[in-house]
Amino acid sequence: MTTLSLMLIDGRPEEAADGRAIDVENPATRSAIGQVPRGGQADVDRAAGAAARAFAGWRLVPARERGQRLLRIADAAERELEAIARTVALETGNAIRTQARPEMKSVVDIFRYFGGIAGEAKGETIPLGEHVLCYTRREPIGVVGGIVPWNAPVSLGTLKIAMAVAAGNTLVLKAAEDAPLGLLRLAQICAEHLPPGVVNLLTGYGEECGAPLAQHPLVRKLSFTGSTEVGRLIMHAAADRIVPVSLELGGKSPAVVFPDSDDERAVDGVITGMRFTRQGQSCTAGSRLFLHRDIFDSFLGKLASKLTTLTIGDPLDEATDMGAIINRKQFDRVCAYIQDGLKQPGASVLLGGLPPTTGPLAKGYFVEPTIFAGVGSAWRIAREEIFGPVLVAIPWENEADVIRMANDSHYGLAAYVWTHDLTRGLRTAHAIESGWVQVNQGLGIVPGQAYGGFKQSGIGREYSLEGMLDSYTQRKCVTVNLQ
Ligand code: NAD
Repeated sequence: MTTLSLMLIDGRPEEAADGRAIDVENPATRSAIGQVPRGGQADVDRAAGAAARAFAGWRLVPARERGQRLLRIADAAERELEAIARTVALETGNAIRTQARPEMKSVVDIFRYFGGIAGEAKGETIPLGEHVLCYTRREPIGVVGGIVPWNAPVSLGTLKIAMAVAAGNTLVLKAAEDAPLGLLRLAQICAEHLPPGVVNLLTGYGEECGAPLAQHPLVRKLSFTGSTEVGRLIMHAAADRIVPVSLELGGKSPAVVFPDSDDERAVDGVITGMRFTRQGQSCTAGSRLFLHRDIFDSFLGKLASKLTTLTIGDPLDEATDMGAIINRKQFDRVCAYIQDGLKQPGASVLLGGLPPTTGPLAKGYFVEPTIFAGVGSAWRIAREEIFGPVLVAIPWENEADVIRMANDSHYGLAAYVWTHDLTRGLRTAHAIESGWVQVNQGLGIVPGQAYGGFKQSGIGREYSLEGMLDSYTQRKCVTVNLQ
């Protein structure tokens, strides 16, 4: 018998109005670890109503006081860091040492960052003349409808909570159906430090709970993180009611390695950038590896031998580097891409391939790091977001060609450039059509960086002060005649 974790509506733990529930599965063992309510329209109505009522008071709380509340939430989350990290490892299949614990540290960091800058939502004065006072105010928008995916469920959920709350909005957030448990616990912590209704957390399926939230008349702003396909639906819902929308969507990010970077540091960085230790389930995964032809074989040799040292298995084991894929559907999808790659004439799999069907790894949704070499840039595995540990390596010879290939994608989220020649590195960084380019590193996002995509990877920026101001406040201009 598994436990039912409850949603948060108007400061209270709540079941779904119709009492239905969803099983949450541990993808490393394929066994149920808990249940959450299967929220629907009636629950969205309750939560949106509570958020709208709470907004009337919350918007008037001084900004620095709002920030103080977030700092207290950060301290409380830090005290429970280990317990929540274990929950996240269990529900996502992400390894505790390499992923779930660092993700919880970033949760604390995000609450602290936005807690600290809450008072920075400043306006301007406009010099219209000696006898005119003209100024702008950064006002909150109202009820924010937030929707997040499962791949970094607590940090992405925290981001929406922290930005919305710091700016004086209230929020109805929908957790991902596959990984809601850690975020539910964080929402309870928020409720201990915020007035009822300021943060509401719903669980449920996208079409039953996410869609009514996106369409709800009381929701005045939408912030969605997830796939480009669903992002398009969210944007339609926003268009119907003319509400502002932020979209953080998918990616197929290039990693460009110049011939002078055939070294261990670049190899390690490509592994980190590809997010192999999150099973490649990251929107910013550098999953298209463009290697200069002169170093193609040599670099791939180093990369493959390094990847074979990764330990794959039980996410709760401290020795594990890489855990399991989130669910059956995603596992099958990743396998289908591998099969598709294998069918291409000239395909060569340097490492990995289809997952083991016997042995301990066959008990969960485990896929080993997989590298396809000699991939044509028109192949599906080179163009579509796989969201699994599958890297495609493509050779190149001149800089103009590699930039053209890197930009030949409808995505534009992240990119990685590896060279010791800084002029060339920056020239490449500036030429690549992506919202975030890293030169000589493959790290994760840090609060303070404006984060978001070019092209179909998204609209708007989050994660930073500017992101909060642009996406979670609206400017009002007040003009006063002093004569
Ligand atoms: P998804 O789009 O299927 O689901 C994301 C969320 O949307 C879930 O909570 C889901 O329940 C909800 N949803 C699904 N259908 C809906 C609908 N019709 N209306 C409203 N809500 C709906 O994505 P996923 O598979 O959970 O996550 C993987 C995707 O997320 C990848 O494409 C990845 O690149 C992207 N992602 C982007 C970022 C970023 O910051 N750019 C970060 C993480 C993940």
